[in-house]
Amino acid sequence: MSEQINRLRQMLEQAETIVALTGAGMSTESGIPDFRSANGLWSRGMSLAEVVSIDYFRRDPEAFWQAFREIFRIKLIGDYRPNEGHQFLAELEQQGKRVTVLTQNIDGLHARAGSGRVLELHGSLLTASCPSCDTTHALDYVLHHPLPVCRLCHDVLKPDVVLYGEAVPLIELAFDAALQADLLLVMGSSLEVSPVNLIPLEAAQAGVATALINYTPTRMDHAFDLRILGGIGETCRALSGA
Ligand code: NAD
Repeated sequence: MSEQINRLRQMLEQAETIVALTGAGMSTESGIPDFRSANGLWSRGMSLAEVVSIDYFRRDPEAFWQAFREIFRIKLIGDYRPNEGHQFLAELEQQGKRVTVLTQNIDGLHARAGSGRVLELHGSLLTASCPSCDTTHALDYVLHHPLPVCRLCHDVLKPDVVLYGEAVPLIELAFDAALQADLLLVMGSSLEVSPVNLIPLEAAQAGVATALINYTPTRMDHAFDLRILGGIGETCRALSGA
């Protein structure tokens, strides 16, 4: 492990432009559960991917919102705090590295830790918008309305989260950033969700140095120059020499 830590430290030192691609595993140490650890079916014989989908939102918005609230524990979202992993990336930026965070997370914790360039590829839990007139509503409003509707046109609001079955609007910017980086560091993602999981493959093919910190192997492991099978917190602590 310490050899791998030294190698990653060296990779970080040599890189001026660093892109971090983060997933739900980044926030488990803040107390937010990831998806792959949850058991297959959610309820009524549906998978998480079927529930958190644009089809389900359109078919049954009331049931969608009820499940969405539970899955993402949105009532608690303000209570979660950034952890050592989020802070590690924010500190790299403070040390003068040009860091872009591409996150699949919707919890807003990278920005709260102080990272300045964050692309929230799957959107944000902190707002919901009207599909008809685009008016944005804050989380506080959503929390006070079991079935949140637009203040102006009374349509049911959609969370500003990219649901399964929707396109990822920032994906081209994400690929561009990764392909221009000196180092792509993936942290806490099963790399199962497409198209984001193709970023490491393309970066590796373009000659970008690639590293992964994850508890478990992923099916994209072959795209990485270095893989650390371990926790994000312990790895970041070791990297900082703490
Ligand atoms: P995932 O749940 O599919 O995979 C998480 C990975 O992180 C797993 O491989 C797990 O072994 C690893 N992991 C968990 N905790 C770790 C730790 N402390 N250190 C190192 N590795 C750790 O997550 P994903 O790939 O991001 O895909 C899930 C989708 O669900 C994403 O689209 C995301 O938007 C959404 N999601 C977001 C949140 C959030 O915003 N915090 C939470 C759950 C799901």
